[in-house]
Amino acid sequence: MSQDNLIALSCSECKRINYHSKRNKKKVKEKVSLKKYCPWCGKHTLHKEAKLK
Ligand SMILES: [Zn+2]
Repeated sequence: MSQDNLIALSCSECKRINYHSKRNKKKVKEKVSLKKYCPWCGKHTLHKEAKLK
C-alpha cells in the first residue's frame, strides 16, 4: 500500500489548480506550498496544497 498521497497545488491568487504532486504524510507533516508558474495569472505565484477531488 502506498503512503504517498496525491495532492493538488492551487494558485494562491486565482485558486485554480495547476499542478499535482505527492506528499508522504508520514515524512512531511507541513502542508506543501511551492512557487510555480501560473498560466492564468501569467506569472509565478505561490501554490498551496489543496485537497484532490
Ligand atoms: Zn493564478
